[in-house]
Amino acid sequence: MSTGTLTETSAFFAERAAHVDSPDGDVRPGLEFLGARDLLGLGAGSDGGPGLVAAAELIEAVAGECLSSAFALWAHRMVLEYLARGRSGPLTGELAARLRTGELTGSTAMATALRDVAGIEPVPVRAEPTATGLRLSGPIPWASNLFPGAVVVLPVRTGEGRAVVVVRVGDPGVTVAPARPLLALNGTASSSALLSDVDVLGAAVLSTDLAGFVAAFRPTFLVLQTAFCAGLAARSLDEAERGLARADAELADDVAEHRRSADALRARLRDLARDTRAEPATAYIRLRLAAARLAVAASRLESTVRGGAGYLATSGTSRRLREAAFLPIQAPTEGHLRWELRHSA
Ligand SMILES: Cc1cc2nc3c(=O)[nH]c(=O)nc-3n(C[C@H](O)[C@H](O)[C@H](O)COP(=O)(O)OP(=O)(O)OC[C@H]3O[C@@H](n4cnc5c(N)ncnc54)[C@H](O)[C@@H]3O)c2cc1C
Repeated sequence: MSTGTLTETSAFFAERAAHVDSPDGDVRPGLEFLGARDLLGLGAGSDGGPGLVAAAELIEAVAGECLSSAFALWAHRMVLEYLARGRSGPLTGELAARLRTGELTGSTAMATALRDVAGIEPVPVRAEPTATGLRLSGPIPWASNLFPGAVVVLPVRTGEGRAVVVVRVGDPGVTVAPARPLLALNGTASSSALLSDVDVLGAAVLSTDLAGFVAAFRPTFLVLQTAFCAGLAARSLDEAERGLARADAELADDVAEHRRSADALRARLRDLARDTRAEPATAYIRLRLAAARLAVAASRLESTVRGGAGYLATSGTSRRLREAAFLPIQAPTEGHLRWELRHSA
């Protein structure tokens, strides 16, 4: 990714971060900005390479300014990943084209798929066969980017089997609950949804092999999540370093140690993004776990160094503290990642 593109992107998101974080925030103008530059689908469907590295660098840069926007970008980009990997046809082709420009918003409701495949809990949405496809009923406990018309990808249970399907917010039977105030990420239209007898055509079924589908996209999923953790961590450490110049030299060693960890993590992220089949799944799990922890620790360190100025509710420091609190509870959660590592030992 060129330095010019990253600089332009950072400037765009920096200017809007406070508003996006506010109760009236909305991440869609950011997605449209990136869509107009054809940056939303970088590397989608590849097993790593320059496109995926560029996507990670873009998400990192956005996260350095605004985690809400970086998270929305990740979710949107993952929907393009699913469409690229699923069964192709005119329906999914048209949706992918409109997602790439930012005209439509993509919502990934796949947290329950990761838990199902890990053997923790079955997916909650049931699907019955119909003459033309599937009829879906059940809850989506959480998803982001649930804007009108959004393209939502979710797993469903077909008896003992599983499938991955596409629905649209606004389809008959899809009810999105009003979004409630959150600690952060308020501009991301994050909420729950209920599906009641939602009919989808066979063309909207991306896969009937959930385990295979998850195994194929998961390294990319984790790489791009790691990117927004790394972007937030790097920004917090930049701010901590700036703060040290004025005051708390006592914390200099801590900041330097976190910086070394952040640099190593970003190098590892690029390595793993170059070829997502080169290393076992545990490498991606370890990377994502380390990234979320580092971002939480870095945002706390930034706050400690910045003192009272950082405690002002309107400061970037306090926003990053709130944003970082999301990372251990985003699927796969810290508990889930640690559980997977223990069971794969
Ligand atoms: C603002 C927001 C936006 C979201 N956006 C999306 C989205 O776009 N798409 C999406 O799919 N999901 C989304 N989610 C859901 C998110 O990814 C997690 O699935 C969700 O936050 C987990 O919360 P839960 O209450 O279901 O916790 P649970 O999954 O019930 O976990 C509760 C606790 O148990 C731990 N735990 C979980 N599994 C295990 C295990 N096997 N062993 C040990 N401990 C375990 C967890 O770490 C956590 O501490 C969003 C959530 C929020 C809050």
